[in-house]
Amino acid sequence: MTFAVHVNMRRCTGCNNCVVACPVNALELHTVDPASTDKIYKVINGSAIILDLKNELCAGCGVCVDACPYDVIKLSGQAPATAFA
Ligand code: SF4
Ligand code: SF4
Repeated sequence: MTFAVHVNMRRCTGCNNCVVACPVNALELHTVDPASTDKIYKVINGSAIILDLKNELCAGCGVCVDACPYDVIKLSGQAPATAFA
């Protein structure tokens, strides 16, 4: 696997667009009390916004990158079908 999804949670609003857009349901958004540090999360109005990326499902397609209106998600590396220059 030659890619990685990076989420800048400082800019995430919890809008859920990326979750809806992901074709393989690799993203899940949860709103819970801020009790965990093992997930990517931020705190809004006293609740934690957790964006859970299931790496084992992610295909590196980049759909979530385009779906995010706030430029929160970055994909590093390339999907397997794309050649490096
Ligand atoms: S890169 Fe594609 S498969 Fe991976 S989380 Fe984003 S939309 Fe889903
Ligand atoms: S689309 Fe962007 S702002 Fe919305 S939940 Fe996903 S990462 Fe956060």
